[in-house]
Amino acid sequence: MQEKASVSSGPRWYATGLDHIWLPYSQMKTAPAPLPVARTEGTRIHLTDGRELVDGIASWWTACHGYNHLHIRDAVQRQLEVMPHVMFGGLVHEQPLTLARRLSEMLPGDLDRVFFTDSGSVSVEVAMKMAIQYRLNLGDKKRDTFVCFRGGYHGDTLGTMAVSDETGMHKAFAGVLHRHLMADLPKDDESEAALSALLERNAARLAGIIVEPLVQGAGGMRFHDPSVLTRLRRVADRFDLLLILDEIFTGFGRTGTMFACEAAGIVPDIVTLSKALTGGTLPLAATVARRKVFDAFWSDDPMAALMHGPTYMANALACAAANASLDLFEDGERLRQVARIEQWLTAGLAPCGDLPGVTDVRIRGAIGVVELVRIDDLGALRRAFVERGAFIRPIGNVIYLTPALTIGEEDVAFLTRVIGEVVRDARHA
Ligand code: PMP
Repeated sequence: MQEKASVSSGPRWYATGLDHIWLPYSQMKTAPAPLPVARTEGTRIHLTDGRELVDGIASWWTACHGYNHLHIRDAVQRQLEVMPHVMFGGLVHEQPLTLARRLSEMLPGDLDRVFFTDSGSVSVEVAMKMAIQYRLNLGDKKRDTFVCFRGGYHGDTLGTMAVSDETGMHKAFAGVLHRHLMADLPKDDESEAALSALLERNAARLAGIIVEPLVQGAGGMRFHDPSVLTRLRRVADRFDLLLILDEIFTGFGRTGTMFACEAAGIVPDIVTLSKALTGGTLPLAATVARRKVFDAFWSDDPMAALMHGPTYMANALACAAANASLDLFEDGERLRQVARIEQWLTAGLAPCGDLPGVTDVRIRGAIGVVELVRIDDLGALRRAFVERGAFIRPIGNVIYLTPALTIGEEDVAFLTRVIGEVVRDARHA
């Protein structure tokens, strides 16, 4: 009843459109009515009823410079006048070529061939296709299995679900998907040996290893040390396997360095990027390959080409937004701010560690996590945040903050205080 009331009291587009929309990750019958947004600015979401929320999530970690950053908006507006989009088959243009060069210069080692797509999941699909075809092009027999990790998440399309944790949100698809090899992250010598043994037994059918570096995001904001990446690079080299790092969440400063792989000093063979690539303004993703991967596709044989080409590939507006977003990283201030945010999150969330029902408080870069034994009523918790003026969306039993990298100390203090209050009031045992 209450939800119907809020639907009819919203703007006309809300009341007339809601019955025609299918929302993400939602049981449409029981999901609480979504909040109608009028506009965004900086770290604020303004609702149509005049309420203002401090955003703790930055729109699934994309809006790294805050919403409506003028530099990005100007770049997109300029590009809109010139050319919003032109197909990328047989034609190229300035923004994606400039962006590809800049990403190649920023990424470590010889990661210098960029394939643009329009979403994170598709960039992972492309990485997987590259890895499978890499082997075929080298004259190997078909290898179509990836090693992936418990707690991992790489997207919602069929191929990416298959390399995500099979016990997670996609478990209904378990029997439908191609089986990959699920392993534990090599956190110590013993688990590295177990991983090596798994690789040894299956070497002939393996196309590569895929992992989210330093933080397994959507699977529960679980952190691991850079040494895990060093170990992965070592075993991948030992078994001559491609190492794919999915930096869709971690890329562009989130963990404290521009890319998470820098913390371990390793160079993956393929890396996927999206989310903060356009500063949260337009959909864009990139799959970036090392020279040896690209070289395997360099041939007189048309069948050795990478057969992929999304319609909106390398969209000019999205690439203009991404170039403008990269400008904003150039003076190093964003990364310095991440270091400050890390301190503020640490100070602000520390008291949560003493609350009943809290099993862990952890912070890395601009990611703050409060893990609970369980969350009985996720809807009630989300409402409690909104009632206090914060937009925070827990996943599973994890409450997390991934704010804009431009957020100020006061807003971080507000968000962490709200989390403390809500957790205390919810009395999760
Ligand atoms: N990989 C990772 C690590 C992600 O966090 C996500 C999105 N949460 C994806 C892949 C999928 O990206 P998209 O939602 O843009 O398809």
